[in-house]
Amino acid sequence: MAIENLKKVNLGHYPTPIEKMENITKMLGKGTLYIKRDDKTGPAFGGNKTRKLEYLLQEALDNGCTAVMTFGGTQTNHGRTTVGAAVKLGLKPILVLSGEDTGYLSGNLTLDALMGADIYFVKDSSKLQEVTNDVIKKYEQKGDKVYVVPVGGSNLLGAAGYIMSVKEILNQMKEDNLKIDHIVCTVGSMGTFAGLILGAKYFNAPFDIIAVPVSPAPIGQKEKDVVKYANEVSEYHGLGITITENDVKIAYGPEEAPYSGEEYNKPDPITREAIITAAKLEGIMLDPTYTGKTFRGLLDMVKNEKYIKSGESAMFIHTGGAMALWTKEHLDDMQEQLRNNCNTTEY
Ligand SMILES: *Cc1c(COP(=O)(O)O)cnc(C)c1O
Repeated sequence: MAIENLKKVNLGHYPTPIEKMENITKMLGKGTLYIKRDDKTGPAFGGNKTRKLEYLLQEALDNGCTAVMTFGGTQTNHGRTTVGAAVKLGLKPILVLSGEDTGYLSGNLTLDALMGADIYFVKDSSKLQEVTNDVIKKYEQKGDKVYVVPVGGSNLLGAAGYIMSVKEILNQMKEDNLKIDHIVCTVGSMGTFAGLILGAKYFNAPFDIIAVPVSPAPIGQKEKDVVKYANEVSEYHGLGITITENDVKIAYGPEEAPYSGEEYNKPDPITREAIITAAKLEGIMLDPTYTGKTFRGLLDMVKNEKYIKSGESAMFIHTGGAMALWTKEHLDDMQEQLRNNCNTTEY
């Protein structure tokens, strides 16, 4: 079936707004910068996982499933969005999380708990598969049929979400007469980046896609991994297009100071400066794990004319995740910088 006609359950609010970042555009004095608010997709605050889940959970409903299970780190945004989507559809939400139960629920875990998710913490990552199998068996014995959503929702079907988002973007560009030369996003489990690359080629978009990885090289996602996944997705959906390494632009940043910081999910002062810039100049909230790092990369790319030349316009895809700001670890780590960034007076 043509990807345009693929069935999906409606979970979000579309089109997500495209806004001009007036003050940051002015500050940099190069080309116009836009932001697409995929942090506003809903449900449960939404983010980029919603577009993938619309296709995946349609399949869950078609298969008569009664429960949805997914995976991630303890603060997974994907898990939280999946829980929100599951409860909306009347399905039982199950999270299998890599990490220990610290005894304190904050950030995304606050929301998972509010929505009544069944949460399984797996301290020993080598036991993940074993625990997963046991948990599925447990629900099946109670008569549930469990739909398993892969990490990040990034399988062949889930990638359809960001392929189709390109059509939405092209419509918005036409309606609002926007010129966009580059799209900048984060690459983690690859569904967003590969989907956008495929969508841009399939729908003949005038922009290319640049991604900032969530981990520095050589751990970070590599061009050849994206090419392989994208071509599998293309074949699965019968798109009739082939992706090569030339289509895959990953901006790692300078070797001595990679955009992704030292490692995945590790907060660093430069990323926090980028988060503060977006907050102070645009009132936009980014997260320390994904969007903050990508935004840091975007600022540097525009300033130093890497990938994005002076006079060219770029659109940042805000993929969500700001609730990570309220995790205990990040709050503790951020206190001094927060104090320095504002004026507080107590009478
Ligand atoms: C999951 C996630 C990403 C990465 O998207 P992938 O499709 O997994 O590459 C980016 N930003 C946020 C906030 C996320 O939660």
